[in-house]
Amino acid sequence: MKRLLLVEDEPGLVLTLSDRLVREGYRVEHAGDGEAALVVAERGGFDLVILDVGLPRKNGFDVLRAMRERGDETPVLMLTARGQLTDRVSGLRMGADDYLTKPFEMAELLARIEARLRRDAPVRAAESAVSSPDLIPVGDVRIDLVRSEVWRADQRVELSAREFQLLRYFLAHRGVSLSREQLLADVWGYQPGTTTRTVDVHVAWLRQKIEPSPKRPQFLVTVTGIGYRFGESPGEN
Ligand code: CA
Repeated sequence: MKRLLLVEDEPGLVLTLSDRLVREGYRVEHAGDGEAALVVAERGGFDLVILDVGLPRKNGFDVLRAMRERGDETPVLMLTARGQLTDRVSGLRMGADDYLTKPFEMAELLARIEARLRRDAPVRAAESAVSSPDLIPVGDVRIDLVRSEVWRADQRVELSAREFQLLRYFLAHRGVSLSREQLLADVWGYQPGTTTRTVDVHVAWLRQKIEPSPKRPQFLVTVTGIGYRFGESPGEN
């Protein structure tokens, strides 16, 4: 389980973010000001720090600088206020790994976190079902299962870790109609009864990335009343 340190002082935002991140399967610790952040970060073991810039006692830049100065190379995703371009520049110089401008969509934050953690994303059981071939053509893209990469001609298509897990799962179940509940359980590890919009959002993202015409999906087709099916079915949906 990936460990995140959330450094944010707005109680409402802390509650919303923590709750969602925990439901996404992360272990979340929280610090409400800059000084506390440094104390908690020093214990180590975090996979990512989500660091607000505007904090009491010590701002996000000072926290980041102090972390880097003491040799802490934990990836940092900074949350900055809208339009603070100078913030971005300062943060970049100090070694932040990514930025998100407030206000942001939860889906965007999750995508950034997953992208950040992608390199050592956990291997899912579904992967074993697809051992070969390693390079799978789907329409005009090729899917490299060994490197977890998708290519269109010689251009790499960026997928988050979760999107790739979902894609793997579909590939392992070609031609099978999969319910949202099953996808949530097997790809996300959710309990039955969890909200299912997550699946639709990720399927929409995947379509944008792999379908020649995302609004008329040929591969990732909707199965009315059930969920989705992966397979070449032009004309459906
Ligand atoms: Ca703040």
